[in-house]
Amino acid sequence: MSNYDFDLFVIGAGSAGVRASRMAASYGARVAVAEDRYMGGTCVNVGCVPKKLYVYASQFSAAFQNSRGFGWSPEQYHFDWSTLRDNKITEISRLNGIYDNMLNNAGVTIINGRARFLDAHTVTVGDKHYTAEKIIIATGSWPYIPDIPGKEFAISSNEIFDLAEFPKRLLIVGGGYIAVEFAGIFNGLGTKTTQIYRGPLFLRGFDQDIRKFAAEEIAKSGVDLRFNSNVKRIEKQADNSLQVILDDGSSITTDCVLYATGRKAHLQDLGFDQLKVELNDNGNIKVDEYFQTSESSIFAMGDITNGMDLTPIALAEGMAFAKTWFNNEPTLVDHNTIPTAVFCQPNIGTCGLTEEEARQQYANISVFESQFRALKHTIGGSEEKTYMKLIVDDASDRVVGIHMLGDDAGEIIQGMAIAMKAGATKALFDSTIGIHPTAAEEFVTMREPRREPRREPGK
Ligand code: NDP
Repeated sequence: MSNYDFDLFVIGAGSAGVRASRMAASYGARVAVAEDRYMGGTCVNVGCVPKKLYVYASQFSAAFQNSRGFGWSPEQYHFDWSTLRDNKITEISRLNGIYDNMLNNAGVTIINGRARFLDAHTVTVGDKHYTAEKIIIATGSWPYIPDIPGKEFAISSNEIFDLAEFPKRLLIVGGGYIAVEFAGIFNGLGTKTTQIYRGPLFLRGFDQDIRKFAAEEIAKSGVDLRFNSNVKRIEKQADNSLQVILDDGSSITTDCVLYATGRKAHLQDLGFDQLKVELNDNGNIKVDEYFQTSESSIFAMGDITNGMDLTPIALAEGMAFAKTWFNNEPTLVDHNTIPTAVFCQPNIGTCGLTEEEARQQYANISVFESQFRALKHTIGGSEEKTYMKLIVDDASDRVVGIHMLGDDAGEIIQGMAIAMKAGATKALFDSTIGIHPTAAEEFVTMREPRREPRREPGK
């Protein structure tokens, strides 16, 4: 046992920090975790969990509409924002309590407050000093809003969940995960929603066909999508509405402006300027494959390091850290073939390479795709389309990319990701019996590769 107060001191009780603390404690380490905001970090409080609850809330309007074709007559329905918001608050405090209990039961000391480094083995929280053999920085990321005149009138995903008033009109800036997810949420809840993206097509980095189909379906659902558009400034009007002036000179009047223009490493106030912790060019903490920074007693994981800002990655990293450093079991996190979902409406689920990436990596690929109206929407009357795509390396017959836009894409792609990780070939997909009638069965029944040129959405 070391002479330090703790074997491990963790700064930040988010997904990475909590998992690393709990696991290290289960291996016998004396662990403390400091948190100055809320237990569970971004995911539990202002990210994945409340977002998914709001996605569910937003889907009822379409369900009510489509229920008519099935014989229902939902004559009156009314959405009450404060009910949703307050039920969400109750649920999140329940989860905060569960996190607290999990750490307490694991024997982890919880310290409320902001930890700052004094040296590579010492932190202060308030007027107390704590020493530790190893210290983890797991303080996550924070929304970034570019400097534009009127920026103070914009909000980020930290504030959107708890708005005092339900916005009748919402303008969203950005074209990544958060922007498209909130466009779907507020559009579904009944807000007149406009989404502005600076480039020609949003969701950069996703498969091109998925991006096109997503744009088509999201626009069809009622979101006013504006590409190649930038905000010049935001002005507050006498009636408290916001006037958003765009770079083409046009303007949009709205009640609320949500900036979803990325997140940056949350390093403020950690006081490690005097330490040797190196950063990457993009401001994230540089770590090796075992999460060690350039200061050997300091480690970092989760959103604060380079890589995809995804909860399951942070969890895997926390687990691998504890096994490596407290159970003598060096463990690497496999950052290949990471499945992900975007809970826009319809959802996107994706795993492996995009078609564009696959064309660069392999000499010959075959692309299988399917586009259809889901059974539910036939008599429901919705025009929503589902799109699915498999990308196969011809030489090995291995499936190297799977993409879907449609209901429950995240649920479906999770299983597909296991097959991909196991190295499944297209022949194996073909020999798998489908589950009928489902959308997912399309993935095992696509027989004919697409003939070039690529089809355009809607045709
Ligand atoms: P993203 O990085 O996904 O998207 C940021 C968007 O903002 C991009 O469209 C980007 O454009 C645009 N942008 C960046 N800077 C500016 C600027 N100065 N002016 C105008 N537009 C700008 O970030 P998000 O904030 O959406 O989400 C952060 C991360 O959180 C995600 O990357 C993801 O890892 C994670 N997340 C995951 C979710 C999930 O798993 N379902 C849900 C929500 C978040 P361009 O593409 O042109 O650079």
